Amino acid sequence: MMIKKGCQYLVVLREVNLSFKIINECISCDACASDCPTGAISVADPIYIINPEICCECVGYEEASICVLVCPVDSIILDENYIDTKESLLKKFENSKK
Ligand code: SF4
Ligand code: SF4
Repeated sequence: MMIKKGCQYLVVLREVNLSFKIINECISCDACASDCPTGAISVADPIYIINPEICCECVGYEEASICVLVCPVDSIILDENYIDTKESLLKKFENSKK
């Protein structure tokens, strides 16, 4: 897993519990999907997508969201239309292990 350095964005992400979405700048490199611990990222046309019902924001797995760290073109951003809570994230984390 290649991780970008100096990603202050992630500090913000962990405080607000918003889900993520992939934007058009995605170059379909597959790095995020390969490293996602929950399988929430899939190939779509024309770009990859994140299923917010599955994404636990990496809670329970890592200190920060892996997909955001590995994306080489910063195409994974907050989805302001999908708000999570700590409880919902933990529930999705538990579900991802089944
Ligand atoms: S935040 Fe974590 S669980 Fe959610 S899509 Fe990214 S890598 Fe997968
Ligand atoms: S890591 Fe970024 S560029 Fe690569 S598939 Fe995921 S969103 Fe697209």
